[in-house]
Amino acid sequence: MEIFHPAEILSRDEIAAVQTRRLARVVKRAARSPFYKAKLDEMGVDPESITSLDDLTRLPLTTKDDLRASYPFGMLADEHRELVRLHASSGTTGAPTVVYHTKKDLRTWADLMARCMHMAGMRKEDVFQNIAGYGLFTGGLGIHYGAERLGCLTIPAGAGNTARQIKLLRDFNVSAVHIIPSYALYLAGVVAEQGLDPRDLPPRIALIGAEPHSEEARRRIEEMLGLKAYNSYGLSEMNGPGVAFECEHQNGMHLWEDSYIAEILDPQTQEPVAEGEVGELVMTTLTREAMPLLRYRTRDLTRFLPGQCACGRLHRRIDRITGRADDMLIIKGVNIYPMQIEKILLAVPEVAQNYQIVLEREGYIDQIKVRVEIKEEFFIEDMRVLGGIQKRIAGLLRNELLVTPRVELVEAKSLPTSEGKASRVVDLRETKD
Ligand code: AMP
Ligand code: ZN
Repeated sequence: MEIFHPAEILSRDEIAAVQTRRLARVVKRAARSPFYKAKLDEMGVDPESITSLDDLTRLPLTTKDDLRASYPFGMLADEHRELVRLHASSGTTGAPTVVYHTKKDLRTWADLMARCMHMAGMRKEDVFQNIAGYGLFTGGLGIHYGAERLGCLTIPAGAGNTARQIKLLRDFNVSAVHIIPSYALYLAGVVAEQGLDPRDLPPRIALIGAEPHSEEARRRIEEMLGLKAYNSYGLSEMNGPGVAFECEHQNGMHLWEDSYIAEILDPQTQEPVAEGEVGELVMTTLTREAMPLLRYRTRDLTRFLPGQCACGRLHRRIDRITGRADDMLIIKGVNIYPMQIEKILLAVPEVAQNYQIVLEREGYIDQIKVRVEIKEEFFIEDMRVLGGIQKRIAGLLRNELLVTPRVELVEAKSLPTSEGKASRVVDLRETKD
């Protein structure tokens, strides 16, 4: 196995030793911030008393609301003059939260990112196009500096302008890209429309992440763009991308345990779930200087995958994120995650690349409507064919969700698209009251 960083091949004992040493250090560092100083005092935890991994559970959990409440500087553990950058979460829910970095933090992050890219098969010789928004979003600069750290010729293409993206890919013989999955599906649709053969598109690797996506979405992206797509997980509170990443085997994401301690807890009770069960991912930063976070509740739902990966790395793998705890829809008493719907839709051959979930209220009853784009060649068929497709999709969704959604077929490319993270759920329930 080729590695980028020696930490990739630590044994489990070595990982535990690094974590123990770094946990003790990071708690002392965190205690310099007004927020953690008050919190640890209140809980009667002396930072000096944190000496083993078992002490983790004595530490407070940190929530997004804590970050918001201590906005703008309450979580800072370093002096202002040491700070060189700030990023903010993209605020898919509520107000954004800010994370600060020192020079060393940025170096550590770029190293982690380069490690991920290398693990997915990228090398110095690759030409890399970053098809993601630059700015406060960490998928721009975070990924960018990782690619430069690896030594790739890096094209900061930014998001949007699909025709120009495709031109850049071809003109510069781009071999690897980073792209948000919903935009990758859209771009793939444009490639197909232009009559380009996926085999004529140069990239062989796509790093896809920043939003939940199904295995079916990955498969489509791979087929339509003629490449391998690797799942990339991160969140700005933990730097951004570079937290967990798929290796060449594409079977779950190795979470870098020399840099983060990960726990999976029951979102209701905050107790650890049974081995291999799905719960909320909770993480502690082990290397961050400017703004350490202890036991941060990501609200992302996943599980640790059992067994060892064939690549030989012993950093534990997390499963594809099924959604955020707050993504869950409750319709007629049934819990539904948007990813369940995507998984069904994108496995239907007639379905094009986009869909929308609309929640409505009729009387006192919530209804779910799924608007599905149908590929052009099927949309021109007669009504009976379309009626058949609609029934089939409704049946498949009913079997998966246990409620019957309304299904509305719409023309390809008629639903709103986004260059950044997709927002596919439209909730019309409140406005109807
Ligand atoms: P941000 O606040 O912009 O840093 O977004 C971070 C959030 O994006 C995470 O907490 C996840 O909910 C989501 N996310 C990032 N990467 C992935 C991924 N690979 N799969 C699913 N969701 C992801
Ligand atoms: Zn692996």
